[in-house]
Amino acid sequence: EASPTSAADIPIQHTDCFIDGQWLPAASGKTFATINPATEQEIAQVAEGDAADIDLAAKAARRAFDSGDWPKMDARDRGRLMYQLADRIEAEIDSLAALETLDNGKPIRESRNVDVPLVIDVLRYYAGYADKIHGSTIPIRGNYFCYTRREPVGVAGQIIPWNFPMLMTAWKWGPALAAGCTIVMKPAEQTPLTCLRMAQLAKEVGFPDGVINVVPGFGPTAGAAVVKHPLIDKVAFTGEHRTAQVITRDSADTLKRLTFELGGKSPNVVYADADLDAAAQGAYMGLYLNQGQCCCAGSRLFVESSVHEEFMEKLTKLTNRRKLGDPFADDTEQGPQVDQNQFDKIMSYIDKGRQEGAECVSGGQRFGDRGYFVEPTIFDSVTDEMAIAQDEIFGPVLSVLKFDGSDEIIERANRTFYGLAAAIWTQDVRKAHEFAARVRAGTVWVNCYDVFDAAAPFGGFKMSGYGRELGEEGLKAYTESKTVTVAL
Ligand code: ADP
Repeated sequence: EASPTSAADIPIQHTDCFIDGQWLPAASGKTFATINPATEQEIAQVAEGDAADIDLAAKAARRAFDSGDWPKMDARDRGRLMYQLADRIEAEIDSLAALETLDNGKPIRESRNVDVPLVIDVLRYYAGYADKIHGSTIPIRGNYFCYTRREPVGVAGQIIPWNFPMLMTAWKWGPALAAGCTIVMKPAEQTPLTCLRMAQLAKEVGFPDGVINVVPGFGPTAGAAVVKHPLIDKVAFTGEHRTAQVITRDSADTLKRLTFELGGKSPNVVYADADLDAAAQGAYMGLYLNQGQCCCAGSRLFVESSVHEEFMEKLTKLTNRRKLGDPFADDTEQGPQVDQNQFDKIMSYIDKGRQEGAECVSGGQRFGDRGYFVEPTIFDSVTDEMAIAQDEIFGPVLSVLKFDGSDEIIERANRTFYGLAAAIWTQDVRKAHEFAARVRAGTVWVNCYDVFDAAAPFGGFKMSGYGRELGEEGLKAYTESKTVTVAL
C-alpha cells in the first residue's frame, strides 16, 4: 500500500458512533463537519452523538464490564489483545499518520515519526502491565489473613482534546484496558477520525463488543452526558481547566473518580552557564512543537540577562528558518493551527502582546491566505504581569523574559496558577536540583525538553490538574483497592 501524500488520497472509513461493537449513526440523526485545517475545507460529516448515544455506550460498557468475555478473560490474554492492537496500528502506521495529519494539520513527519510510534509504545508498555497488577498481603492484629486486591475501577469515561488525537487516545486506553476497565470515549469534535479508526482496529483484533465505545460529538452535550451518567465510574479528562471545573460540578451527583490533565504556562529557564546552543534548540522545540499546541509548552522563556543577546540571536535564527506549509510535504515543520477559533485566539494574543509593549522580534503575522497558519512568533522584553506571560496561548507564540539570579527565578517561575512542567538549562548540578525541588510543577526537565516516556508519570500541580497519566501511577488511576480479611 503506497503512503498517501495528499488529503485527496486518504479514505475516510468511519464517521459513525462505535457502540457495542457496531457502527451506528447518532440517534438524533445529526452530523457535524470535521475540517481540514490546512485548507479550511470539510473532510467529512461525523455522527453528532449526544446523551442518547452516550447512554447506549454506557450501558454497553457496563454490560461488558459486568459480564461476558472481558471480565472472564485472563489478564495475560487481555495484555495479548493489547499487543495485537499495537501491532495492527504499526501495520497501518502510514495511513493512520496521514489521517491524523488530515484531521489535525500536524506535519506528516511528526505524525508518522513521533505521534503514531508513541501510540504503539504506550499500548505495548501497558499491555505488559495487564498481568502484573496485584495487591499485597498485610499482617494485621489477631488470627486473620488480610490481603488487598487491585480491581478495575469499572467503566471509564474518557474525554480528550484535539492536539494529539491518537496519542491521547492511547494514553487513555492503555491503562484502562490493562486494568480491565471498559471504555466510553468522547474524542474532540475537531479531530474524531483517528480515534474512530482505532476503534475499528480494536474490533478487528478481537476486543469483545462493548469494551471500547467511541461517541463523537460536542462537549456540553456528549461530553457532559459522559460526566453525568450513573453507569460510568470514572472520568479521565484532558483539556482546559475551565472545562475541568464544569466536569467537577457535573460529576458531583455520581461522585466519579476524576483525573485531570489541564493547561500550563511552563517556565523554561536558561542560565548563563548553560550550553546555549542546546538550550536554544530546546527552547525552540519546547515551544513550537505541534504548532505550539502542547499543554506543557515552554511558553515562558526566562533567560539570564548576561547572555540574553547572544541567546536571542541563536533562537531567532532557528525560528526564522522554520518551514511552514502543506503538512503533507515531507520537509514541512509547522502546519496550521487546528481551527478558526484557535487561530483567532492566537492572533488576538499577538495583538495584546504588542499593545502591552512587548517587542515582537520574529513572526507576528498570519502565514499565507488559506488555512489556519500562524508564523512562529517571539516576543522579547516581556514582563511577568503581561497577559502573554500569564495566559496559555496554545499557539506558536513565545514570551521571553530576563532574570538575574536563583532566588528571583524560582519565585518568578512559580508565579503562575498552573504547574504542569518546567525546565532548566545549566551546567551547575546544584542549581538544577534546587530548581527541580522548589518548582511547583509535575514534570521538570533538566537540560532537555519534552522528553516523554510511557513509563514516566505526567500531570500537573495546581490548576494544571490532578492525578497522573503514564507509568504505574497512570495505571493505578484505573483501579480500586479492595481489602479482604479472612478469619483463620
Ligand atoms: P480545548 O480548548 O482543548 O478544546 P476543552 O476543554 O474545551 O479544551 O475540550 C477538551 C475536550 O472536552 C473536548 O473533547 C470537548 O468536547 C470536551 N468538553 C468541552 N466541554 C465539556 C463539558 N462541559 N463537559 C464534558 N466535556 C467537555
